[in-house]
Amino acid sequence: MRLIKKLKALLNRLSVQLVLLVLIIIAMMEFVSVSVLIADLLKNLNINTNHEIVKLFLIKIVVINVSMLLLFVIIVLLVSRVFKKINSYAFYSCTTGLPNKNYMMNNLLKEIATNGSFAALISLDMDDFKAVNDTLGHLAGDELLKQAGERFEQVLGEGDCVCHIGGDEFLFFVKSVKNKHETEMFAKRIMERFSQPFYIENQKVDYVTASLGIALMPKDGIDFQTLFNCSDDAMYMAKRLGKSNFVFYEKNMNFHLYEDTIRKKEIKQGIRQKEFKVFYQPKYSTNGEFVGGEALARWIKEDGTVLPPSAFIEFAERNGLIVAITDLIVDEVCKDSLTWIQDKKEVIISINITSEHITNRDLIEKLIQKISNYGVPTCYIEFEITESMVIEDFQKAVENIARLKSFGIRVSMDDFGTGYSSLNYLKRLPIDILKIDKTFVDTINQDEKDRVLLKNIINIAHGFHLQVIAEGIETAEQLFILKDMGCDMFQGYYFGKPMNKKEFEEKFL
Ligand code: C2E
Ligand code: MG
Ligand code: MG
Repeated sequence: MRLIKKLKALLNRLSVQLVLLVLIIIAMMEFVSVSVLIADLLKNLNINTNHEIVKLFLIKIVVINVSMLLLFVIIVLLVSRVFKKINSYAFYSCTTGLPNKNYMMNNLLKEIATNGSFAALISLDMDDFKAVNDTLGHLAGDELLKQAGERFEQVLGEGDCVCHIGGDEFLFFVKSVKNKHETEMFAKRIMERFSQPFYIENQKVDYVTASLGIALMPKDGIDFQTLFNCSDDAMYMAKRLGKSNFVFYEKNMNFHLYEDTIRKKEIKQGIRQKEFKVFYQPKYSTNGEFVGGEALARWIKEDGTVLPPSAFIEFAERNGLIVAITDLIVDEVCKDSLTWIQDKKEVIISINITSEHITNRDLIEKLIQKISNYGVPTCYIEFEITESMVIEDFQKAVENIARLKSFGIRVSMDDFGTGYSSLNYLKRLPIDILKIDKTFVDTINQDEKDRVLLKNIINIAHGFHLQVIAEGIETAEQLFILKDMGCDMFQGYYFGKPMNKKEFEEKFL
């Protein structure tokens, strides 16, 4: 194997054209020497070279020689092509045509080792690229990578290089910068070029962003592998800090990443030990009747500490743990619902789900299956989603909401007014309830414009046959104004804070 590798490397190094030339010269020399030999032979044997058979014999020899020569040339040309292809597969990305990591390692490794002067290695990973593949298909994903590669090339300076190292990851080796400040400018140029929307199959794609991690040479390392590890750690840190960001490598960075690993472990353990519990917050109708509640997750640790969702939901979403937490919440809500149904109590509970659920048919089916396995009538369960979740894959969200509805599960649009608040989306989504965000409610008795906006949103929602609930009601005045505007349901500390099942039952059932 080693010998073959060495041979391959040697062949790679020698120019194929040179080999071809040498072989042709050898073949021609052989042809001339064979011809001379034959002429000598005929002479020594006293054979008349003008004889017809001898002429024919000589012509045949010439034809054989020439065809051999041609065959030789063709074979060498084919081999040279194959080598070129192998070379391109080995060192270039098929998707973008950019050099790949092999190229970077083979070429820059030596350069980094000998250079020693200031340079930067930048790892780039796209955020939410998966959404392009999921929504527009893999060909569209490839097209985005290609267009991104072209943009990155435009940012490069003298001697810089960008590689496509696989998936949605790119690596820049930047020599045209002289210090950290110039590197920062370079990273900003990448971000700026990347932030322009892409147009793929006539569709605008503007939600894919980039997270960059930067390692500096010689400060962070002088060999490729060390620099690459540093830029990769920095890139993960950029993602951890909220994506669409660039971060310079720092020594204690590994510690934060280590912290993440510990946190992940803790949450996994919490899931195994079923430490994620449901707190219920009551909801009231406009005529003052209790109608149900919202299930809000709390992490109750072994030592009794109660952690709010802000301490774990976002992290769990980013680290693929939210589905398991939602499963625990749905289990608990279903069990509680069954006891209330047995006691002939009408309690509709809404459960918050995530973008991962609403854009994934399998997860939606599993939720439906879970509820039906418990035997809870679906009219007692609602799901809350937000606009930002829907935006990730609008079409899939529409289909999945319709699927939930076909099982009698109602869907509510949570936090309306904080995100895109697109009336167009509202028109097209088959939801049942619109939940006005607390931020609107907070200013309702101070801001005339908020009141006008809210009144019109409520009217439009009613026009779309949606029920409207307001959350975050803390005062009687807010309740009065919202009732006056025609809001259908209310939730907030005014009626009750989120509380455990026992307290919820004692106070409201
Ligand atoms: P959300 O779904 O919008 O829930 C309402 C949040 O507002 C709750 O915070 C609730 O306690 C708080 N709230 C309600 N009324 C008032 C009020 O009058 N005043 C004030 N200051 N706050 C009020 P909480 O329980 O901390 O939940 C925060 C967010 O965490 C939720 O916002 C929801 O997005 C998320 N969350 C909670 N549980 C789950 C869950 O099981 N799964 C998922 N995916 N997300 C959850
Ligand atoms: Mg909610
Ligand atoms: Mg909300």
